[in-house]
Amino acid sequence: MNVEVINTGSELLIGQVVNTNIGLLGHELLSLGLTINRQITVPDGKGIKDAIGESIGRSDIILITGGLGPTEDDLTREMVSEYLGAKLSEDQSLVDAIRNRIESNGSTMRDINRKQAMVPSGAVVLKNENGTAPGLYIKPSDRTEGAHIYLLPGPPRELMPIFQDQVVPLIKNALIEREIVIPLCVNTFFSGLGESELASRINQLLSDERDTFDLGYCIKPGGVVVRCIGDPAIVSSVSEKIRNEFSENYISNDHSSLPAVVVEELMKRNKSVSIAESCTGGAIASLITDISGSSNVFSVGFITYANSAKNEILGVDNNDLNNFGAVSEPVVKAMAEGCLKRSGSNYAVAVSGIAGPTGGTEEKPVGTVFIGIANHGEPTLVHRYCFRAERLIFKEKVSMTAINLLRKRIIGAL
Ligand code: ATP
Repeated sequence: MNVEVINTGSELLIGQVVNTNIGLLGHELLSLGLTINRQITVPDGKGIKDAIGESIGRSDIILITGGLGPTEDDLTREMVSEYLGAKLSEDQSLVDAIRNRIESNGSTMRDINRKQAMVPSGAVVLKNENGTAPGLYIKPSDRTEGAHIYLLPGPPRELMPIFQDQVVPLIKNALIEREIVIPLCVNTFFSGLGESELASRINQLLSDERDTFDLGYCIKPGGVVVRCIGDPAIVSSVSEKIRNEFSENYISNDHSSLPAVVVEELMKRNKSVSIAESCTGGAIASLITDISGSSNVFSVGFITYANSAKNEILGVDNNDLNNFGAVSEPVVKAMAEGCLKRSGSNYAVAVSGIAGPTGGTEEKPVGTVFIGIANHGEPTLVHRYCFRAERLIFKEKVSMTAINLLRKRIIGAL
């Protein structure tokens, strides 16, 4: 199935609005096993007609977003009708629905609003529960050269429900009618492994069957997503093999983030965590508390940036701070153990590092960081890393690595 998307709107081309609709559509289509082959963004106006001309003939599905509003720059409906030679006529039930919606918001319907009730001949109206501009579906015909054409309103909160509730079932029907087996798409998120290592080991693991499915890699905060698309039976077995091979690094198959998985693991076990942060300045606590339900598992975060705070709040020995420095194994071990003791949590995470660009030495260059995990009944572990990156990226890498170490300790893999 060739799927193409035409995003319309001058605001998208002058940096006023970021084109998030293409991401939303791509994501939704992937769950149907479909990928967008081409996308174009055109300004309001005649360019829409040219873009349709380019897509038609080579596409099975064309999704056009934006330009269905009441103002004179909203021209998608008109351009599509002109291209297809389809007459536009007013749909009285749409006029009534638009009037009701506008009046229920305390406004008055104006003449320009009637434009949104114009429907090209033969088109199916896609109801918009969140706005006045309905979507439109133009069935395949000689005029569309066999393509299914969908016109969707621009605002994402209007587009998404129409797409999920009305367009997805229509696309599924079209696939069934054409006896197309809907490919399966599995996104597996791994953490703690680089993209190249993952890719080479997967190629080795699957060398005999590599040409029976599509594989893709995408770096996300905290790890790598491996995308596998193809025949459902093959993809299921391949994904299972990949997951088993990297079981320690496996995070999720369902887009759950690393912090979400950690919160879930803690909740399952009825355990809590506290964090003692230096170089990350609260970023780890922030990532954990971004997750709904974290209040059940997160107790306290200490941002102990100064040595005096590490000593006074966490009880780190001043001799250790003086002898080994704030960025050192003994200090991070003491931070983790102090945090565990003072918080009363089941797990404690501690980090201290040199974010740079200044402050590095030969022995401890910029990017050096120690991450500690403490819990009762097991030795405190401290790992040393070096992440050479700009400050914000450094903080993100340290935070995600710490959360992944915590995950491994919780599940007994460390
Ligand atoms: P309206 O009735 O609101 O005018 P419309 O279908 O005519 O709907 P547009 O006028 O093209 O849509 O866009 C309206 C708003 O929707 C834009 O100002 C922008 O905020 C948002 N929008 C449009 N296209 C996109 C897109 N591709 N990604 C994200 N937001 C978008």
